[in-house]
Amino acid sequence: MTSTRRNTRQLMLGNVGIGSDHKVSVQSMTTTKTRNTDETLEQVYALAANGADIVRVTCNEIEAAESLVKICTRSPVPIVADIHFQYKLALAAIEAGVQGLRLNPGNIRNEEQIKLVAKECLKAEIPIRIGVNAGSLDKDLLDKYGEATPEALVESALNEVRYLEEVNFHNIKISVKHSNVPLMIESYRLLAEKVDYPLHLGVTEAGPLPGGLIKSTAGISTLLSEGIGDTIRMSLTTDPIEEAKHGRQLLEYLGLRERKSLDLIACPSCGRAEVDVISVASEAQAALENEGLPIQVAVMGCVVNGPGEARSADIGIAAGKKRGHLFIKGEVVKVVDEKDMVSALVQEGKLLAKEGIEARLAAADKDAARIAQQDAEELMGLQGDINNFEERTKSVVEITSKQDKEK
Ligand code: SF4
Repeated sequence: MTSTRRNTRQLMLGNVGIGSDHKVSVQSMTTTKTRNTDETLEQVYALAANGADIVRVTCNEIEAAESLVKICTRSPVPIVADIHFQYKLALAAIEAGVQGLRLNPGNIRNEEQIKLVAKECLKAEIPIRIGVNAGSLDKDLLDKYGEATPEALVESALNEVRYLEEVNFHNIKISVKHSNVPLMIESYRLLAEKVDYPLHLGVTEAGPLPGGLIKSTAGISTLLSEGIGDTIRMSLTTDPIEEAKHGRQLLEYLGLRERKSLDLIACPSCGRAEVDVISVASEAQAALENEGLPIQVAVMGCVVNGPGEARSADIGIAAGKKRGHLFIKGEVVKVVDEKDMVSALVQEGKLLAKEGIEARLAAADKDAARIAQQDAEELMGLQGDINNFEERTKSVVEITSKQDKEK
């Protein structure tokens, strides 16, 4: 990603730095009842293990606030309490030791109550996210603008900013989420022009997979590519583990975070494919994800183009003549039976993660490159070598001219 990151103020959410001096971070939210401490903690751990840097939990009753005492102490990542309607629950969550609060300006509207919460956050040195949501926008703004326009969302956020700044509170992060992707993008662009606080990106109520993932990716990536955005959440209607995982993957694919997870690339397959690429790729993905290897792996349908096209991958396999050519950085290191393609890939992937690329290239089977070359040549002979185009198309030319004469 080449665009310049928007300059923002910096803040700390527990031990996670947020703002333009820091890496973009991934958030997710638990779906458990917060009062069920162990169940919630179990989900927090799972979210953290799958890529969440920050986890939000709802604080919707006093039992939830009580539970937060243990959750915050034992969580491996900072916890943000989500507060709607009841400012007293915000005070209880601060008391419980949360690392951050999210306040929805649409449903905590009393200025004095908001300022009281901000003063307590100031003392506790924890940030507040002003979380504006198109679906729960302040009624006065809905009346003023007729609907949840970008201007309305931004005005709601700025009103809240003003309340907080009036009590000298600047430890602020803002989101203006909309379920409509173009309106979401426009809202954040507008907000980014008006404040220098860090922004949390998300397409609200994006829905189940795959649509929710596409909407979230479209909205979040567009803004990140413009340098806007400091934390992200994929709001998906699915197991929150998927949110965390996809959020993290998105940042890795955009080059904004170092690779921690598997990146499986596969050719789309075509008439040249010597194997069912779709099933080999799915099988390989499941097996490699299970191993948790942070490498880029390629599954290619044919040896004619596969190893060359996937040269940048750490490791890959290409199918040819009932055999699989296992390659590392484009160099064939082993030729295996078609039925052993996935297991060979996993085995070599594990060795590669442990020993490194150079060592595994040095351990290549001596005959692998020669056998691979033979297979590729035979396949080109059967399927047609694009480099021998004139020779191979002679018959087509002859048939066409014969047809022309007969007309
Ligand atoms: S690698 Fe081979 S099978 Fe896959 S798309 Fe390219 S030419 Fe087709």
